[in-house]
Amino acid sequence: MSTISTLETMQSNELDLAGIGVGPFNLSLAAVLSHIPNLKTAFFERSVDFTWHPGLMIQNSILQSSFLKDLVTPVMPTSPHSFLNYLVSHKRFYDFTSGRFGSVTRQEFSNYLSWVAMRLQSVQFKSNVREVRFENGVFHLDFDNAETIKAQNLSLGTGMRPYLPECSKPHIGESCFHASEYLFRAPDLSGKRVVIIGGGQTGAEIFLQALTNANMAPSHVTWVNRRNSFSPLEEGAFVDQIFTPNYVKAYQSFSDTLKDQEYKGQKLASDGLTPSTVADIYSELYRRTHLSEEHNTFSMRPGCELIDMSKDLQGYRLTLESQSMEQNAELDVDVVILATGAKPFVPECMNPIADRFDRIKGGGLALDDHYRVQWDDSKTNTIYALNHGAQSHGIVDAQLSLMAWRSATIANDIIGRDMFDVDPGMCLVDWQGLPASVMHERADLIMTDRAS
Ligand SMILES: Cc1cc2nc3c(=O)[nH]c(=O)nc-3n(C[C@H](O)[C@H](O)[C@H](O)COP(=O)(O)OP(=O)(O)OC[C@H]3O[C@@H](n4cnc5c(N)ncnc54)[C@H](O)[C@@H]3O)c2cc1C
Repeated sequence: MSTISTLETMQSNELDLAGIGVGPFNLSLAAVLSHIPNLKTAFFERSVDFTWHPGLMIQNSILQSSFLKDLVTPVMPTSPHSFLNYLVSHKRFYDFTSGRFGSVTRQEFSNYLSWVAMRLQSVQFKSNVREVRFENGVFHLDFDNAETIKAQNLSLGTGMRPYLPECSKPHIGESCFHASEYLFRAPDLSGKRVVIIGGGQTGAEIFLQALTNANMAPSHVTWVNRRNSFSPLEEGAFVDQIFTPNYVKAYQSFSDTLKDQEYKGQKLASDGLTPSTVADIYSELYRRTHLSEEHNTFSMRPGCELIDMSKDLQGYRLTLESQSMEQNAELDVDVVILATGAKPFVPECMNPIADRFDRIKGGGLALDDHYRVQWDDSKTNTIYALNHGAQSHGIVDAQLSLMAWRSATIANDIIGRDMFDVDPGMCLVDWQGLPASVMHERADLIMTDRAS
């Protein structure tokens, strides 16, 4: 392969593309681009080695998507960077298939990602991109401990930023923190009153841990959910159709209003709870309620939103607002874990040029169909943004499901020809069959359906 490897070689050559951040998304792009001869690429990651949300690598947590939708397989099944090749290379293929696992653990998938990252010459660790300047038609990447590197194009793969409710910010510390730090903080919950804010899968996994880890049993654990129910992931063949290139193509033709409605209507297909986690939580709550004397050791609070927080010597006092209660409720706890999700952001290293980027309503980056950021030099120098396309490409953009397809789309764009087949092919569902006027009407139908 022709990717250039050493920092020295990179510094003397101008790269065709520099990737900033190496999570699964830029890693997929690096893997796909490694198959293109003579393309000069490098991907820079600040960590010392590959990690995938390490603060949330809770034992036995499982991947919410198929392992076949790995870094490369959907667009290049013959690539050595596939999950199946990882299994074969580790002499694990037969044991894996004998297991007939419905899914893969996140730990095993992370090990696979890490294995690929170590094999790709273009991936550089311990490389924090401090600043990106754009001078004389070239991007200049400045690092903490290395010489500046120049690149024609960029791929932004720095992930999302943890979201903290405003009222929690003054209290962030040892006993009040975002869930992304859960395993780093390793909080001792023994005998404590604990609250988990956030009803998504992360909140569910931490709630389950707090309920079942005998070594650190809290005296009481509350799970607060803004949604009205603790709903499982919407699954099934037709639900999965929204995680296909065909759907993305159709989505791109929808009006902004319809895009918005589709996105909101699909939330549970993306953010619902893994059924096995729901089953485990339910069994434990059943046991505590009916088969032991522990029924007052937990509570679940759907339809509640954290709106205020204070702290005194006794701990934290949380104010919860609920549409079903006339008055706000107050909750006294010792530990607050904020499983409140994450939001896309433009990393600080882009500050020198960030004000030249076109923005959509809400401040996000404006992307075209090829994941190109719209900015005032985009005709000559492209910035591809990964994990910024919720509005332009739909709910799947933040997921692993289409990362290989996105990488191939970008790869074709970089080299200016269709080396990878990204044509969606035949579609089971006629997403695109409606003329624009009907699509607008369809938006009303969707509203009515969901409201009834
Ligand atoms: C706990 C959890 C589980 C998930 N499970 C699934 C799942 O099962 N299925 C699914 O489809 N999706 C899942 N997702 C969603 C999605 O797949 C992940 O969020 C995924 O990690 C996104 O990848 P990314 O490459 O955009 O960002 P990240 O994985 O966040 O990686 C970004 C990287 O950029 C680096 N970086 C940032 N700034 C710089 C800089 N200036 N210089 C150098 N490096 C930098 C960071 O160190 C980091 O390594 C999950 C998300 C979470 C939080």
